[in-house]
Amino acid sequence: MSKKLLLHCCCAPCTSGVVPQLIDNFDITLFFFNPNIDTEFEFNRRLKTMEQYVDEYFKHTGKKLELIVIPYDHLEFQQTAMFLDKEPEGGARCSFCMKLRLDYTAKYAKEHGYDVFCSTLSVSPHKNHQHINDLGESVAEKYGVNYLPNNFKKNDGFLLSVTTSYEYKLYRQKYCGCEYAKSHIDPNEEFMEILLSDKEPKELSRAKKK
Ligand code: SF4
Repeated sequence: MSKKLLLHCCCAPCTSGVVPQLIDNFDITLFFFNPNIDTEFEFNRRLKTMEQYVDEYFKHTGKKLELIVIPYDHLEFQQTAMFLDKEPEGGARCSFCMKLRLDYTAKYAKEHGYDVFCSTLSVSPHKNHQHINDLGESVAEKYGVNYLPNNFKKNDGFLLSVTTSYEYKLYRQKYCGCEYAKSHIDPNEEFMEILLSDKEPKELSRAKKK
């Protein structure tokens, strides 16, 4: 019997690049816990996209994924992140943010009898997998549960997330999640993205040209 894996999911596009890398070896439960997202509107939009992914994945593969959702509560994130607002992406605010999400996932995994846990976070080209693994191992030790070290960028994980999002017509957000990341969106780039939103994603076009 496959080991039960609790997979923290930051969003549907990243999840779509990770699930195929794990599905043959684990019994996966998706875990949507993202208090870092700046507004409830955006949280619900990303959650709806997760549900769309689960439906599409079932239609395409015949495999049913369970999805657990922890309701939105931005306060705990804000109380600390507001003092780290000047940090660049990848700095101390992101360490806090990722640890908050991994910590809660580890605790939930322990309390609900999962064999192992990890997160989709490392599929992002903007995130350091070694740092994520260090955080994962530290909270695993705290709760006495197993962590699955990973680097989901490998084996073209990010490209898979782009192609699957395009195929399943998933909403791909333009910022990581918090209000601080949102404030760094380039308005010109955002305007161009809106204009080109029905077109093939640029990562996909680039990959085809290789
Ligand atoms: S940029 Fe992303 S990882 Fe960093 S604090 Fe904001 S939501 Fe969290």
